[in-house]
Amino acid sequence: MLAGGTGGAKLARGMLDVVGADELVVIANTGDDVEVHGVHVSPDPDLVTWWLADLIDARGWGIEGDTWAVMDALEAAGRPVWFRLGDRDLAMCLVRTEELARGARLTDAHAEVVRGSGARARVLPMCDEPARTHVRSGGRWRPFQEFMIVDRAEPAVEGVEVRGIEAASPTPEVLEALDRADAIVIGPSNPVISIGPILSVPGLRAAIEAARAPVVAVSPFVDGRAVKGPTEAFCAWAGLPLGAGAPLAAYAGLLDGLVADEGPEDAAVPVLRTDTLMSSAESRRRVASITLEFARSLS
Ligand code: GDP
Repeated sequence: MLAGGTGGAKLARGMLDVVGADELVVIANTGDDVEVHGVHVSPDPDLVTWWLADLIDARGWGIEGDTWAVMDALEAAGRPVWFRLGDRDLAMCLVRTEELARGARLTDAHAEVVRGSGARARVLPMCDEPARTHVRSGGRWRPFQEFMIVDRAEPAVEGVEVRGIEAASPTPEVLEALDRADAIVIGPSNPVISIGPILSVPGLRAAIEAARAPVVAVSPFVDGRAVKGPTEAFCAWAGLPLGAGAPLAAYAGLLDGLVADEGPEDAAVPVLRTDTLMSSAESRRRVASITLEFARSLS
């Protein structure tokens, strides 16, 4: 699976039930990564990991039941705390940061986070090199997390850049997973800022094209709207239509099929129409299972 945070992570949790931990590999976006409070934070790989470990908090990010002693202390010390990490979340970021400081690749450092959180299945960063999404709005560029949290994703999007991506390459783990996959599923994540950076790692798209597995995407639009987050604004900026047309256009040439609750009759690839809202464990399992059956029918 290719995934960002929210939508992709929910489908990944459904996939875990359907195929089991040994068969599931998630390739996660690291364009959102940020260095803050002295640690390397990987928001999307971590969100996927907390979902797979059944640790995700109901608010949709962070670890359930986490405490905030470190943030409270930093705030009392007059430090900026615009990026909030719970204590256990911060501990996992310390694990990653310590591994990186010892010279580990991001892939291996995140594997320690996966192990430490008790998650099963593999969660692979899209690349080991730093590649950071920046957003232009109000005439100036800012790192993705600042746009999302400080600016609350409110200003109009005028540009998106993944800085450093041209020097990145797919890791051996990512290439092996794509080569050996029975199905490649693009999760219902933001096509521009979650899946876009993954597909722009030089060589990664070609590796998907070369893989023998069918490629199926699940649309992040439900009833023609994004369930959550700034997907609509980013699609509008990228010139993508809202609804099932967005993944069809964004992944044109890559897909063998699309799973969506609606879709044009004349789509270039088969569209499996089904309810894709994943608000319960049962619905996550159902969407995962139906997506894999559909992929199997296309192979
Ligand atoms: P982010 O990094 O947290 O923004 O994560 P993603 O890019 O993975 O997820 C954002 C997208 O997930 C949004 O476009 C949502 O519409 C989509 N999404 C969230 N929940 C669901 C769901 O239950 N079903 C579907 N189909 N999409 C969802």
